[in-house]
Amino acid sequence: MLNKFFSFFSHDVGIDLGTANTLVWVRGKGIVIREPSIVAMHKKTKQVIAIGTEAKKMLGKTPANIITVRPLRGGVIADFDATQAMIEHYIREVHEVDRKLPFSFIHPKVVIGIPSAVTEVERRAVWEAALAAGAREAYLIEEPMAAAIGAGVSVFQPTGVMVVDIGGGTTEIAIISLGGIVVNKSLKLAGDDMDQAILHYVRLRHGLLLGEKTAEDIKIKIGSAFEPKRKAKEPENEEMAVVRGRDIETGLPKSLRLTEVEVREALAPVLSQIIEGIAEVLEEAPPELTSDILERGILITGGGAQIRGFDKLIMERTQIPVIVAEDPLTTVVRGCGEVLENPALLSRVRVTGGLQ
Ligand code: ADP
Ligand code: MG
Repeated sequence: MLNKFFSFFSHDVGIDLGTANTLVWVRGKGIVIREPSIVAMHKKTKQVIAIGTEAKKMLGKTPANIITVRPLRGGVIADFDATQAMIEHYIREVHEVDRKLPFSFIHPKVVIGIPSAVTEVERRAVWEAALAAGAREAYLIEEPMAAAIGAGVSVFQPTGVMVVDIGGGTTEIAIISLGGIVVNKSLKLAGDDMDQAILHYVRLRHGLLLGEKTAEDIKIKIGSAFEPKRKAKEPENEEMAVVRGRDIETGLPKSLRLTEVEVREALAPVLSQIIEGIAEVLEEAPPELTSDILERGILITGGGAQIRGFDKLIMERTQIPVIVAEDPLTTVVRGCGEVLENPALLSRVRVTGGLQ
């Protein structure tokens, strides 16, 4: 009875708590929020000043008494208070969009996608954070599972599927069969490390110091994994980007042209390590599932799956077909949304949760 009363006022939500981006799905509406997973707070008091896009604007520009944190950097809950603040902030925001309600009336059902490396204790902490933020029921689902569901893969078949979710701080590699994760691995190696690799490369090769944001922009603009095969006489048609940074020697601003070839060279070691992780998970898989994967291919998703030619490189190294998920930045939250709107799914895939 009380549940019905609260659900009348509440929007049930699915949340993808990513290391780089947080996305929120509202039942019946779809994705309503997409913001960076960043919290700005006072250094001493830990009082939250800004969350998401607002906090990102402050990145690298804060005075000494304010810090910006990425609460899930590395795929573990690095800062519990900040994580809790984020969950609460978004649950509130979703409800403030269309009605001004006293917060005590809001008791939504919440499904949260979390990195699979999050420990039992941390899972409990996220779950409690959701309840503390007003959730009537909170469920946690592992991100690779949510990603597979969001990508439209049938996860309950007795056929193995491999999902590789290349995010900002972590790459989640999992083999799913019969609605469960059979083997998985969470690498602390993903998009952020690609940015760092570009940063290091440019510093070593050109003596130029870049900001992290600039390195990320270069990666997104001209990052690639695979050299396109061209005929002998075909002219090189590689892209370039003009980057600005600080000259290490003179300390003055300087700009230079960076080629696609150079960026590929910088990214190669990181991409190779991710592929090694994939190979290790394949080795650990039961042979029956390996043969399924050989047939069905590897699904890659997450922002990092958008590096041009990464699918081809994985294919070349593993000899297994690779499929890039459609709209890879939203697969996890779409999966959370699907689970939220389909109670039968929820009861089959949830990791932790349920108040009743
Ligand atoms: P998370 O789930 O960890 O929050 P996301 O799946 O949102 O991560 O992916 C974020 C990462 O994807 C960042 O490192 C970002 O730089 C990278 N990214 C986003 N778009 C692209 C692109 N077009 N090419 C390469 N990398 C991208
Ligand atoms: Mg993610």
